[in-house]
Amino acid sequence: MQVVRLNQDALRAVRRGHPWVFADAVRDIAEPGEFVRLQDRKGVSIGWGIADEGGIAVRVLPGEPLPVDSFLAERIGRADSQRTRLMPPSTNAYRLINAAGDGLPGIVVDRYGPVAVLRLYSAGWVRHLEVLVKTLSELPWVESIYRRYGVTRVDGRKGGETLAGPPVGESLVVEEHGLRFLVRPEKGQKTGLFLDQRENRRRIGELAAGRRVFNLFGYNGGFSLYAAVHGAARVETVDMSGPALEDAKENFRLNGIDPKAHAFHSADVFKWEAPGKAGLVICDPPSLTHGKAADAVARQAYKRLNSRVARWVTADGLLASASCTARLDGPTWELAVAEGLAEEGRWALLMRCGAPPDHPSALAHPEGRYLKFALLSRL
Ligand code: SAH
Repeated sequence: MQVVRLNQDALRAVRRGHPWVFADAVRDIAEPGEFVRLQDRKGVSIGWGIADEGGIAVRVLPGEPLPVDSFLAERIGRADSQRTRLMPPSTNAYRLINAAGDGLPGIVVDRYGPVAVLRLYSAGWVRHLEVLVKTLSELPWVESIYRRYGVTRVDGRKGGETLAGPPVGESLVVEEHGLRFLVRPEKGQKTGLFLDQRENRRRIGELAAGRRVFNLFGYNGGFSLYAAVHGAARVETVDMSGPALEDAKENFRLNGIDPKAHAFHSADVFKWEAPGKAGLVICDPPSLTHGKAADAVARQAYKRLNSRVARWVTADGLLASASCTARLDGPTWELAVAEGLAEEGRWALLMRCGAPPDHPSALAHPEGRYLKFALLSRL
């Protein structure tokens, strides 16, 4: 196995459990996909990893070196049995492999019923695609394996293709907490659904009974559907994407709810003029940090947005605010939200959470804990 020697900074990070070795921390170059042994300057082994290209030279793998087939079989088997224990009933859509959080940095696999949707974030794994597909296809529930493209550095293309099993259609229907959702593995955002908001959708939905709800950046109506099912008086879903809103309506129908009893606004939230106030406002924007924009710029963006949407919350109302950017850590994002809300009265924090347990992150890898979620109420 080729040896890659680490400088002091990288050594410290890897010892702490961080899964990335940056390219500027090493001089030895390995081909993407090659397994390498990591050593300190004195030649002492401190682990192993898989070589990547670009800014991350090596992605660190857990345990002792193993042949790739046994390594993948062990990690995937472990992740699968963990999910079997952790997932709520009547749910067949969840993240099976969450990259470094499952000891498989650079690999994401989502389960949608009988379909495993694979997305690679590291060019290194492309070389091992065949064994990866073979290992996944041995899981008892897997009928088809679909590869979703769209990671510029790795794929350089969009769309996707079926790699094993019967061809995956344009859409399929899955179950989440007993609710039915339309998933589009080829065209949907990420791999089709935002699985990371599953538990937040359920908890927020339960708070919606009898209330008017604004679901901002609503995508295919995940939060909206839970709210409607729990008896919200009227749910207004706002998204800039027409096709996403059509899917939201379809999701209502799939669950026996008449979309005509609710509203779907195709609009830019930053310009939308709310038709009044709501007792529950949900604000789950796409990442508002762009490229390497300074923290200060990002903080300002979240501050402004939260201040804008807080205006639409009634005097006894709730605001559920989220952020999916890895560029701001939890405390910094919370500060931005607090600054924004301070312009709109006084608020209390009821609950703060992140992603559910099918989205584990390596403990020493805070970048993996990108999802931030807070429930607030007016004081
Ligand atoms: N809350 C959703 C995920 C939201 S993803 C869920 O739980 O599934 C972000 C969504 O914001 C996308 O659907 C995208 O179309 C939409 N979007 C992005 N910018 C927007 C804007 N300026 N105004 C309205 N919608 C926007």
